[in-house]
Amino acid sequence: MKRDYYEILGVPKNASLDEIKSAYRRLAKKYHPDVASGSKKEAEEKFKEISEAYEILSDPQKRSQYDQFGHEGLKTTWGPGGFTWSDFTHFPDIEDIFGNVFGGSIFDTIFGRRERTSYRGQDIRYDIEVTLRDVYFGCERDIYLEKREVCPSCHGDGSAKGSSKKSCPSCNGRGSIMQHMGFISISRTCTRCNGTGLVIAIPCYECKGKSIVFKKKRLAVKIPAGIDTKTSIRISGEGEAGEGGGSPGDLYVVVYVKEDKNFIRDGADLILKQPISFVKAILGGEIEVPLIDGKKAHLKIPEGTQTNRVFKLSGKGMPYFRSTRFGDLYVKVIVVLPPKLTKEEKRLFLELAELHGEELKDEEKKIGERLIENL
Ligand SMILES: [Zn+2]
Ligand SMILES: [Zn+2]
Repeated sequence: MKRDYYEILGVPKNASLDEIKSAYRRLAKKYHPDVASGSKKEAEEKFKEISEAYEILSDPQKRSQYDQFGHEGLKTTWGPGGFTWSDFTHFPDIEDIFGNVFGGSIFDTIFGRRERTSYRGQDIRYDIEVTLRDVYFGCERDIYLEKREVCPSCHGDGSAKGSSKKSCPSCNGRGSIMQHMGFISISRTCTRCNGTGLVIAIPCYECKGKSIVFKKKRLAVKIPAGIDTKTSIRISGEGEAGEGGGSPGDLYVVVYVKEDKNFIRDGADLILKQPISFVKAILGGEIEVPLIDGKKAHLKIPEGTQTNRVFKLSGKGMPYFRSTRFGDLYVKVIVVLPPKLTKEEKRLFLELAELHGEELKDEEKKIGERLIENL
């Protein structure tokens, strides 16, 4: 038969939140496994029981559910095995009660985490610059990383070959140390041996017992065709080594695509500004345009092409990322007028102007004549 939560905390049914909180604090100090006198197992049960009661009564919604339906009303709140520590949301409160006195880590004592802690290695970021052409074809780049790696000589154990570990002198091989603070004593994980109870007797020659070495590593990174600028490529497991058997981090290669002097990239499409002579623009003809792959394409310019007219060359753009399709190339022609005319050209243009019925003002005529004289 499950006990009544109010009874467990020793508060009346109409207790305020403050009353509930202070009741819990009082009982937590009494029943904490590291503090309680008598059986540790019993204290752990008690501590769990009051924490469960506190979890419910400190939450107005759960409390009202409990008030109405009793334990039955909370069936879906816990898993099938009932309340566990993973259901507890008030660790800051416990830390508040004990943690500050000792400077933290009450979790170790509650969960009995005496085993060695392991950490995943850090991720590494590496920036790489490539050209638009590199991205067109896709490429491979060698990069050099200086990073923490698990020592190859001792495989991260830290001990010299053939030597075994000895009992930790700080904790006498127990892995934990009792700390006394007034009336409370708390067992804390030994920091020297990380709770393993063992320390290195003869350190490994290569890593000096640190288990980790700094290694320069060459890595070939594939830059896939069509990748966008500022895209990162994740290379799993190539980050820094983990600690205490933790997995290594990942490497993130961030690709920057340099601006091209000819082509402007717009997704998978390319834009090319192509100058053409005014004669070609007027009479029409064929021009050669450069392509991103280094080849050339022929482009027909129709008679009377205006400047800024855009011609589309299908499939001559960039490859789409992870696809066999290609974008298009848009050629924007810029009609270039001659900065200078020969005497003969000038004469022909004046003739043309007349033919065109172009009314030249007296001024313009004068300027024209003067130009001709100066040529
Ligand atoms: Zn080593
Ligand atoms: Zn130790």
